Amino acid sequence: MSEILTELISTARYLSESGLVTGAGGNVSARDGDGMWISPSGFSFEDAGEDDYPLVDITSGDIVKGERRPSSEVLMHLFIFRQRPDVQAIIHTHPKMTIALTSAGHDLKPMYADYYVYLGGHVPHIDYVTVTTPELARAVEAEMKDDRARGMILRNHGAITVGQSIKEALFRTMAVEEQAFIQWHALSVGTPTYLSDDELKKLDELGSEDYRRKLLAEMKG
Ligand code: 13P
Ligand code: ZN
Repeated sequence: MSEILTELISTARYLSESGLVTGAGGNVSARDGDGMWISPSGFSFEDAGEDDYPLVDITSGDIVKGERRPSSEVLMHLFIFRQRPDVQAIIHTHPKMTIALTSAGHDLKPMYADYYVYLGGHVPHIDYVTVTTPELARAVEAEMKDDRARGMILRNHGAITVGQSIKEALFRTMAVEEQAFIQWHALSVGTPTYLSDDELKKLDELGSEDYRRKLLAEMKG
C-alpha cells in the first residue's frame, strides 16, 4: 500500500479521536504523483480503510483507483491541488469551537505564537456557502489560490488547512481549533489581548520558528 495513503488514514483517524469531526463529517486528501488519495464520501474516518480511499487524477478529476465514491467535496480538493503545487495535503474538518466563534461573527486572531507560526498572517474567513456544491469549491479556490493561505475558515461549516506534508496540514488544523478555544475563553472572561503586528513580525524573524517550520514540512507519520 502507498505510504502516503497509510499516513493519510492514520491522520484521519486521529482527527476523529480528537473530536475535530463527528460521524461522516470532514474529508482529507494527499497528493501522490499525478493523483490524490481522498477520503470516501459518507464514511466516518474510523470506518474507512485502505480499499475505501479512491485515487483521483488531479488534472482530469477521473477516478483511477477504487470503487467508492470520493468525498462530496472532491472539487474543493481538486481546485486547491491544481492551483497550489506547494500543497501536498488538505484537511477539511468541522471543529466545534471554530464554527461557534466564527459563525458568531468573530475572526480568529493570533493570541499566542503557535497559531501564528502554523497559520501565518493570512487566514481568509468566508461566509456560508451550501456544503458540497461547486459554488463552495469555487469560493474556496478563490481564497486558496493565494499561496500565503495555509488555512481558511468556512463560517457555519468548518475549516480547511493545507500543508507541504500531511503532518503540517494536521498541526495547522489543530492550531485553528486551539486558537478558537483560547479566544473563546478569553472573550468570556474579559477582553482578549491579541499579538501586535510588531510581535508577529518578531515571530517571523525567529530562527527557532523557521527551523520548526522546515522540520514540519518534511515530517512524516
Ligand atoms: P463527505 O463525507 O462527502 O466527505 O462530506 C463531509 C463534509 O464535510 C461535507 O462538507
Ligand atoms: Zn464539511
